[in-house]
Amino acid sequence: RAKEMGGNNYQFYTAAMNERLGERMLIENALRTALERREFVLHYQPQVDIASGRIVGLEALIRWQHPELGMVAPNRFIPLAEETGLILPVGAWVLRTACEQLMAWRADGRRDLRVAVNVSARQMAEQDFVQSVADVLAATGVPPHCIELELTESQVMSDVEHAIAVMHELKKLGVQLAIDDFGTGYSSLAHLKRFEVDVLKIDQTFVRDLTVDPDDAAIVTTIIALAANLGLEVISEGVETREQLAFLRQHGCQQMQGYYFSRPLPAAALEAVLRDNDGLFGDLEHAGAERT
Ligand code: C2E
Ligand code: MG
Ligand code: MG
Ligand code: MG
Repeated sequence: RAKEMGGNNYQFYTAAMNERLGERMLIENALRTALERREFVLHYQPQVDIASGRIVGLEALIRWQHPELGMVAPNRFIPLAEETGLILPVGAWVLRTACEQLMAWRADGRRDLRVAVNVSARQMAEQDFVQSVADVLAATGVPPHCIELELTESQVMSDVEHAIAVMHELKKLGVQLAIDDFGTGYSSLAHLKRFEVDVLKIDQTFVRDLTVDPDDAAIVTTIIALAANLGLEVISEGVETREQLAFLRQHGCQQMQGYYFSRPLPAAALEAVLRDNDGLFGDLEHAGAERT
């Protein structure tokens, strides 16, 4: 029948579409039971202060281990979870689990850690989102300033007035706020001025070719200067090489996150990293210095 309707191209197209639709339905169905089957786990990636080498924060990143599908990457299921609304219970689980983990680390003497949690647009649109955050803070006993909520630039820009109102309420709770993937979402400087955020996270797409692409270098140095002038913290994501580290440090970016320091790790593996070097990464101050 496909042939009648337009030849081989059409047939090929529908086959490919069916395959994608099939995968989508498979993932969607599996997603509905993933929480109750305890298939999610959080990994944590260190955020490092370059001057001291100290791990100052950890970004919680969700991982889904499905018995048949294997490890499903967030980029494959988070958008689907948003479309279906499943992100609401999943996001609540993420925040709760991150807070409980932070309390366990604090009980272990790691009292200076901060945990960053990604919040999706769909969560932020919920009437009771701010209340649900307050409830988790109260239930777990986490000091609010030790929790950082990451909102992407594009999610904030999709409904600026609402986002500004929610950010205001969140700041009243005392949590830290970061703009994730900064530089990719077209926020005007006039808007940025009204965002009650503490941190800008430079998107990794700009960091990747930083040392070879002058445009990326210009964008990154501009964001660093912007953050400094607005009195905001700035952190670079996706730092993978000594050269990137050296460039960022030279241009005044104090905080970094990326494979150069550590991949996202399960809590137990991260504890070993914290223990082995007492939460410090060695000699970052001089990393790449031989090139300057
Ligand atoms: P994101 O929040 O911007 O997280 C950074 C992503 O970059 C993570 O991918 C991280 O593993 C990866 N990454 C870290 N360092 C490097 C590096 O040096 N090089 C490269 N190439 N990549 C690096 P991941 O864990 O696959 O997550 C992808 C996205 O999925 C996240 O982007 C975030 O938008 C979303 N996500 C992850 N966990 C959650 C969650 O719990 N809730 C929500 N709503 N979204 C989440
Ligand atoms: Mg993030
Ligand atoms: Mg990001
Ligand atoms: Mg990103």
